[in-house]
Amino acid sequence: MKPLTEKQLNEIRQIVQTGRVLTSESDRFSYAYDASFGTYLPDVVIQTKDVQELAELVKFANRELIPVYPRGQSTSLSGGPLPVKGGMVIDLSVMNDLLEIDEEDLVAIVSPGVLTADIHKAAEKKGLMYPPDPSSSHVSTIGGNLAENSGGPRGLKYGVTKDYVIGLEVITPQGEIIRTGGRTVKNVTGYDLTKLIVGSEGTLGIITKAILRLIPKPPASETVMAIFDSLVDAGRAISRILTSGILPAKMELLDQASMVAVENYQPSGLPKDAEALILIELDGHPIAVRDEAEQVFRVCREIGAREVRVPQTKEEKEQAWKARKLVSPAIVRVKPTKISEDATVPRSKIPEMCRRLQEIKKKYNIDLVVFGHIGDGNLHPNIIADKSDKEEMRRVEKAVAEIFEAAVELGGTLSGEHGIGVMKAPFMEMELGAAGLEMMKRIKQAWDPNNIMNPGKIFPEPGQKLVLSE
Ligand SMILES: Cc1cc2nc3c(=O)[nH]c(=O)nc-3n(C[C@H](O)[C@H](O)[C@H](O)COP(=O)(O)OP(=O)(O)OC[C@H]3O[C@@H](n4cnc5c(N)ncnc54)[C@H](O)[C@@H]3O)c2cc1C
Repeated sequence: MKPLTEKQLNEIRQIVQTGRVLTSESDRFSYAYDASFGTYLPDVVIQTKDVQELAELVKFANRELIPVYPRGQSTSLSGGPLPVKGGMVIDLSVMNDLLEIDEEDLVAIVSPGVLTADIHKAAEKKGLMYPPDPSSSHVSTIGGNLAENSGGPRGLKYGVTKDYVIGLEVITPQGEIIRTGGRTVKNVTGYDLTKLIVGSEGTLGIITKAILRLIPKPPASETVMAIFDSLVDAGRAISRILTSGILPAKMELLDQASMVAVENYQPSGLPKDAEALILIELDGHPIAVRDEAEQVFRVCREIGAREVRVPQTKEEKEQAWKARKLVSPAIVRVKPTKISEDATVPRSKIPEMCRRLQEIKKKYNIDLVVFGHIGDGNLHPNIIADKSDKEEMRRVEKAVAEIFEAAVELGGTLSGEHGIGVMKAPFMEMELGAAGLEMMKRIKQAWDPNNIMNPGKIFPEPGQKLVLSE
C-alpha cells in the first residue's frame, strides 16, 4: 500500500474534530505490535469517542481505499490488530464510557473499550454474572473479546462470548451505522448478523456498542486440585469426569514445564516433579457443589492421581487459581519469545492430543509448555523460544504446523478462542477445505468489496506460509 498523502491526513484531521489524530513515529510505533509476533507501522492512529466521526472516517477510507485496523488493547495472540498493510489504526480502547447493567432485562450495555473485568465487577455488584472470562479480562476490551469470540476457563460450562451477545451497533465498511439483534433473548428476525460479526476479527466492521446477556451469579463454588505423575492419565481423568454427569465450571491444566516455570518465578507450592496438575472449579447450589467435589475427588484417585487436594479457605482457593494465572508471565522468563497456540480437539481426544504434543516436543526438540482450558479440549500448547536463533525458529515453524495437523486430524480446530489473524491464515484451507474457505471469502467480499476492513487477516494471501524465522 502507498503511504497516506498529506492531503489525505488533512482530510482525516477535518473529520476527527473531537478526538486525536496521531502521526508522529513514536506514537505510531506504539500501535505497531500486539501480543503475538511481528511489527507493522501504521500511517496514522485515530482516537475518538464519537461514533458519527468514526462512521465518516470509514466512509472516507472506503472512498480512498485506505486500510482500517480496529484495535482494542492489542492483547491478541494471533496478530488480529496488526496493521500489516499500513493505513489507519482506530484505537477503540478510548471508547469506554458506557457500562450500564439493567437488572430487569438481565443485560449489560457497553461501549467497546470497556475492560471485560469491569463488566464482571459491575454485574457481580448486582448479584449477576457475565460468564465469558478470558484470562486477559483485566487488560482486554469487550470489543476485542467480541471480535475474537473470546473464551476462558468458564467456557467449559457457560460457553464463550458469542453465547452472551444479543445485540450490536456496528459501523459497516461503507460507513453506515447498523444495529443487529436487540435486548430480547429471543430474536429470529432475518439472518443472525450479530453472530456473524462476533468472531469476524474486525474484518466486517467496527463494533461501537454491545448488549450482553447476564445470568444470576451461582451462590457457591468449590475447587479441587489433582496432581498426576502422567500427563496422559490427567487427560484420562478429565475425560472420565466429563462423562460422569458432572459439568465443572472450569477445568484447567498445568503441565510439568508450566509448574517448574511458575515455581521459579513466584513459588506457589506446585509439585515440580509431577507431570500434570488439574484445577477444577464446581459451582452452583452449595449442597450440589459439595457432592460433585467429592465425586471429582474419587474419580481422580481412581485414575491414579498422586494427590488430590480440596482447598478449604477462600485464600487457599485464590492461591490455587493465581498459580494458573502466573503461567503466562512465568514461561516468558525461560526464553523471550512465546508462540501461543490454542488448537482445540473434541473432549474424547484430549488424551490422544496430549500424547501427540509430547511426540512433537521430542521430534523438534522444542520447549513446549501445555496448559489451559483443557476441559473443553482447548489446550494451550505454548512454544517458548528465542527469535534471534533462526535455526530454533525453523524447528518451531514445523512444530506449529504439526500441532495444527494433529488437531484437525483428531476432528478439532486451529483455534478455540485466539482467532486466526495472520498467524493461522496459511492453515485455513486445511480445516475448512477449499469450498468452505471460498464461501467465507464471498461473505467478506459482499460486506467489504474494497477490502478495507482489517485486510491481511483470516484469509491467506497466495502462497502465504507461517514464517517465524525472519
Ligand atoms: C496473557 C494473555 C492471556 C490471554 N488469555 C486469553 C483467554 O483465556 N481466552 C481468550 O479467548 N483469549 C485470551 N487472550 C487473547 C486476547 O486477550 C483476546 O483475543 C482479547 O479478546 C483481545 O482483546 P483486545 O482488547 O486486546 O483486542 P485487540 O488485540 O486489540 O484486537 C483483537 C481483534 O479484535 C479486533 N477489534 C478490536 N476491537 C474491535 C471493535 N470494537 N470492533 C471490531 N473489531 C475490533 C481487532 O481488529 C483484532 O482483530 C490472552 C492474551 C494474553 C496476552
